[in-house]
Amino acid sequence: GHLPDRPLIDSLLLDAWERYRGLDEGAVADYIPALAAADPSLFGLCVAEVDGTIHAAGDVDHEFSIQSISKAFVFALVCQERGYQEVLERVGVDNTGLPFNSVMAIELNDGHPMNPMVNAGALVTTSLVPGASAAAKWEYIQNGLSAFAGRRLALDVQVYESEAATNQRNQGIARLLQSYGRMGFDPLETTDVYTRQCSLLVSARDLAVMAATLADGGVNPITREQVVDPAVCIRVLAALASSGLYEHSGEWLYEIGMPGKSGVSGGIVTIAPGKGGLATFSPRLDVAGNSVRGKRATRYLSGVLGLNLFASA
Ligand code: GLN
Repeated sequence: GHLPDRPLIDSLLLDAWERYRGLDEGAVADYIPALAAADPSLFGLCVAEVDGTIHAAGDVDHEFSIQSISKAFVFALVCQERGYQEVLERVGVDNTGLPFNSVMAIELNDGHPMNPMVNAGALVTTSLVPGASAAAKWEYIQNGLSAFAGRRLALDVQVYESEAATNQRNQGIARLLQSYGRMGFDPLETTDVYTRQCSLLVSARDLAVMAATLADGGVNPITREQVVDPAVCIRVLAALASSGLYEHSGEWLYEIGMPGKSGVSGGIVTIAPGKGGLATFSPRLDVAGNSVRGKRATRYLSGVLGLNLFASA
């Protein structure tokens, strides 16, 4: 199938925005102090088609830190560099069934991080980024995520410093993984690079373009740059289907039927292979750390835009 005609997409996006703008369930993340200051009323929805056509409703140009959504794109870059087969062995693609920052998940699996979309797997992934120093790895990530977005992404210094001062749990996870021989680089330096990658500033518009790049075999819809190979995109989407919404990934697939990735600042990206990317932004989260309005709006749009991958027509 194809996406509906453009004016219909615009009006369905506006419908979704009007339906869920009043939904006030959930709470803004506050375990990273700087995130607690987010305006909970912000709500943006953006679709980027693989040909570069953009559809927008609400606050699509408001910038926020990308947080866990970075995990999907850094994973793609590392698969591109090291080969997705090696990364499968080192990081895995199976859901933990446990929260994104679980230490127990590591212990229950003999020190294996399980998948790249939880903190443990993301820390291993970041440790495998090319570069001999933390600075070189950070530069590689900033360049790579910017290539996905089609514009230069900047660091939110305030969010970075706030998380760097309070990320002892992630430091502990990296140390634990090191004790199991899982890390490809110094654990504390890796945690610092990971904290920076989570603090890159994006808008819903950027995220839609990044998702559309994964939807089109790695070709950015705006710049036409081949950022990663089609074979990498296929595996990234599989990893997202299993684990993109943490322990609620099964429920997400059941309701929405597409690979997606959420982050604690309130973004969610969803990929409609061959068609485009959908991004939502709204800071109030459910208990698993997924945006409440984002989930509801994506479910609605998956249905009315005909995006569910399990549908036969
Ligand atoms: N930087 C956050 C952390 O490591 C990202 C978590 C998330 O978005 N789920 O805790």
